[in-house]
Amino acid sequence: MEDLKNTKIWKRNKNHNTIVKCNDVNFGEGFFTVIAGPCAIENSEMALKTAKEVEKLGASVFRSSLFKPRTSPYSFQGIGKEGVNILAEIRSQTNLLLESEVLSEEHLDILIDHIDIIRIGSRNMDNYELLKIVGKINKPVILKRGMSSTLKEFLFAAEYIIEAGNEQIILCERGIRSFDNYTRNTLDILAIPSLKELTHLPVIVDPSHSTGKRSLVPSASKAAIAAGADGLMIEVHPDPTKALSDGEQSIDFFTFEKLMKEIKKLLEIFDKSTIFKNELSN
Ligand code: PEP
Ligand code: MN
Repeated sequence: MEDLKNTKIWKRNKNHNTIVKCNDVNFGEGFFTVIAGPCAIENSEMALKTAKEVEKLGASVFRSSLFKPRTSPYSFQGIGKEGVNILAEIRSQTNLLLESEVLSEEHLDILIDHIDIIRIGSRNMDNYELLKIVGKINKPVILKRGMSSTLKEFLFAAEYIIEAGNEQIILCERGIRSFDNYTRNTLDILAIPSLKELTHLPVIVDPSHSTGKRSLVPSASKAAIAAGADGLMIEVHPDPTKALSDGEQSIDFFTFEKLMKEIKKLLEIFDKSTIFKNELSN
């Protein structure tokens, strides 16, 4: 990691850890932030239903994907720019912040006025031109780790954004490819404390894409908290068996509620109890 020592993301080159603030939501030390929502927005009804439910249960940010990077060009690619009206509806009916993936500069132009947080997905972690573009925007960026990227490559990708002028970066561990394909990816649990040792940036975890299996999402979420994560990004769908993308790894409302209760208990142990926008009833 020698060559990272002169970078702006390097922990020791800053005397405190960065807290990324977005309205009244904070990512970083002392806070725990839950991002939840479907893999992709499918229509207005399911989006609003999911948004209201996850907000009630304590999420602060809504996954609002309109553009989906899919392995097959024949799979559902997201509803695209028509969906911005749905984002406006969610904004008017909830207090959730909205985050959404951009795959290109064109997507950024379409989404910029409708979202609070920009997401760069795993497939674009090393799209340096796109990183430089989001580096010029004054909005937080969730940068997901490339599925085959080392921590050093991940951190240098973040450096492209910070170097271009945007310090509001949230790193997201989302699992890496390994030899075992029982799970979709392998959650690199030690990436969490390792990144925190190396950089001052907040680190969140995506237990959905890292496992690919809804039965494993709660365990991955709890392990991430124990390892020191500053937040989670969880796929939640009103009826996962009917989801147009990633239904196998999406959890339903009931499971999300149960998980949020467990998360809350764990956060008390780790002294991060001031997390939720909406307190859970019990
Ligand atoms: C996503 O979060 O919607 C996604 C596609 O995940 P990843 O970029 O980590 O594969
Ligand atoms: Mn997904």
